[in-house]
Amino acid sequence: MLYFDAASTTPPTPEALEEYTRVAKEYFGNSSSRHGLGFDASKILERTRNDILSSFGLSSSHRLVFTAGASEANNLALKGVAFGYSNRGKRILSTPIEHPSVKNVLAELSSRFGFVVEYLPVNSSGVLEPSTLKEAMGNDVILVSVMGVNNETGTIEPLKELASIVHAYPKAFFHSDVTQMLGKVMVPYPSLDLFSFSGHKFGAVKGVGGLCFKKSIRLVPQVNGGEQEFGFRAGTSDVPSIASMGKALGIAYSTQAANEKKEKELRDYLRKQLEAIDEVVIHSPIDASPYVLNFSLTKHKASVVVEALSQKGIYVSSVSACSSKGEVHSYVLEAMGKPLRECENPIRVSMLPSTTKEEIDTFVSALATILQEVRPL
Ligand code: PMP
Repeated sequence: MLYFDAASTTPPTPEALEEYTRVAKEYFGNSSSRHGLGFDASKILERTRNDILSSFGLSSSHRLVFTAGASEANNLALKGVAFGYSNRGKRILSTPIEHPSVKNVLAELSSRFGFVVEYLPVNSSGVLEPSTLKEAMGNDVILVSVMGVNNETGTIEPLKELASIVHAYPKAFFHSDVTQMLGKVMVPYPSLDLFSFSGHKFGAVKGVGGLCFKKSIRLVPQVNGGEQEFGFRAGTSDVPSIASMGKALGIAYSTQAANEKKEKELRDYLRKQLEAIDEVVIHSPIDASPYVLNFSLTKHKASVVVEALSQKGIYVSSVSACSSKGEVHSYVLEAMGKPLRECENPIRVSMLPSTTKEEIDTFVSALATILQEVRPL
């Protein structure tokens, strides 16, 4: 099996799985219970929270709320700020290339709650240029949300520059979905008022993530109930998953620089191989996250090729897993101004830190064979 769909999810690392099992077995108490087992679970929970915050360098300025993943964290960030600060203004700025867990929340804030959401155009690389944001900003903007790394193309957004533009307006907050960035590409943490992430993108188990935000921000909770997570997210804490995420993040951080360098070499190698195939059009910019390479086929249907690869045990993705059920084309590529035929036929190759050159060779040669065998469009 060759796995090239790491942007959808990664396998849990052995250490993260081991930590999950250890904590689930030995510290099964409810972290809110006021007895020894509860206190022990609570200690693990708070130690993990502190470790993660300190690895971000944000121990004193930010709060970390654990969630069931980035989708929930994005909901909490966007609705939490919108409902908490609607007295300041109604305008929210974002981009047309956000993940559905941002895009659809913003659509709801607009259609059901009367917020005015503007999607600022990105350039042909998928980048929101700082000058575009600067022009659109105003005193009535309460929130700007721009993802760190795009999940389809790997495009890296200039978060630091964008944040500094937002911060010239004291009533506005800057949120970023850094799900495809954390543990892979440097995140400018102190620039971000709020940011969301998901553990299973960097080797933790699925169903756990977090929202980190400045302590001064008064979010309106989206899950009401008990007082867990400072009252921002009710429900018994999933301490084993949280501990697993802490472990996975520690490993991702300690290997991030070396992996990034290795991954760049592999991605450049893959890019060269693909460029030699005449019907391939590469969409990922040259300076994108080295973990993602997105291209279209101009003569074949991507879904047929992805299926043929899958039959050979090679797993890549066509339109992203989060939209692949309903969408027939990539709205990300569309926003980058790509022709419709290319938007309908993208293939995303996304790599793990463990991906090898030999695996890339096998993929490229299988792709070349399939393109010979499968009937063109
Ligand atoms: N944002 C981005 C950029 C993503 O890639 C994903 C996962 N595909 C999410 C948010 C949602 O993460 P989860 O499904 O773990 O909630």
